[in-house]
Amino acid sequence: MLNFDSIIIGSGVAGMTAAIYLKRANLNILLIEKNIPGGQINRSSRIENYPGFKEIDGPTLAMNVYEQVNNLNIQYQYDEVKEIIKQEDLFLVKTKSQEYLTKTIILATGRSAKELGIDKEKQLVGRGISFCALCDGFFYKEKEVAIVGGGNSALEEALYLSDICKKVTIILRSKKFRASEMFQDKIKEKTNIEVLYNTQIASLEEENDRLSGIILDNGDRLNVGGLFIYIGSNPDSEVAKNLNVTTDNGYIIVDEKMKTNVNGVFACGDVIKKDVYQLATSIGEGATASNSVISYLSGIK
Ligand SMILES: Cc1cc2nc3c(=O)[nH]c(=O)nc-3n(C[C@H](O)[C@H](O)[C@H](O)COP(=O)(O)OP(=O)(O)OC[C@H]3O[C@@H](n4cnc5c(N)ncnc54)[C@H](O)[C@@H]3O)c2cc1C
Repeated sequence: MLNFDSIIIGSGVAGMTAAIYLKRANLNILLIEKNIPGGQINRSSRIENYPGFKEIDGPTLAMNVYEQVNNLNIQYQYDEVKEIIKQEDLFLVKTKSQEYLTKTIILATGRSAKELGIDKEKQLVGRGISFCALCDGFFYKEKEVAIVGGGNSALEEALYLSDICKKVTIILRSKKFRASEMFQDKIKEKTNIEVLYNTQIASLEEENDRLSGIILDNGDRLNVGGLFIYIGSNPDSEVAKNLNVTTDNGYIIVDEKMKTNVNGVFACGDVIKKDVYQLATSIGEGATASNSVISYLSGIK
């Protein structure tokens, strides 16, 4: 069985950063990712607060980091980690198709999009329901769409969709946005964005296995074939469950060195409990976690 110094689970920006630092320290590492490299940031059409880039889209930024990973010949496995088992001083990492042994683990599994939790939602994902305006917006060129959510991500993606679609209706549960004033001002300038405050989706209509309309809680019907959901995220810490890593609402608790309560297990990025869920913080935590792994492996705990 392959045996590593460290296995990093998740190749979002946090995991890839940790991998870059560990590989440059000449450690024998494996980076495992169940989806595409870059994680959540692939859902963002425009980033304006990441230092070094006045403006960049998420997939380009993700690919830039992935290119660095590739250039360093970091061992990369497209697979899903299902279970981690502690075996004396080592960890057994079980994926869908393989098993590996490692001295340390970095959990960089991030977060995934929250669902509305209503009938037909799961069935219509990819058939009118999307969690990524950048990926799917083009399919609704010059059509009417709706977006649900009131944070920065929802408004940013509503602005993006308004340049492609005929009309964008923002469905907002509360009476005001959580997003920054800057995004709210930009929304007001758009003539093809309508905001429905104090409104929720009651049900989804389907025709030929595609979304055909949305019924609101006030009884109104929106005749849209596209619904984009941006209502926040949930931490993906399930994989650490049987290690007995301490969590709070699913978020992994770490100290300032990114150590969990389990010796040899570190975590970084959006999966940890913290105040700021952004690229800059996740990348910094990836670097810190890697440094802690290096110290741990050299016996300095
Ligand atoms: C729409 C949107 C817009 C945003 N805009 C900005 C912005 O403008 N500026 C900013 O700074 N931040 C922004 N963010 C936040 C930023 O994207 C995140 O803070 C950052 O990407 C978190 O990175 P991460 O590596 O911690 O986690 P993630 O990006 O969530 O990556 C985790 C990775 O782990 C993988 N994974 C999970 N479980 C497993 C498993 N069991 N096995 C294998 N792989 C697994 C996932 O597939 C994923 O690729 C935005 C986020 C969204 C959703």
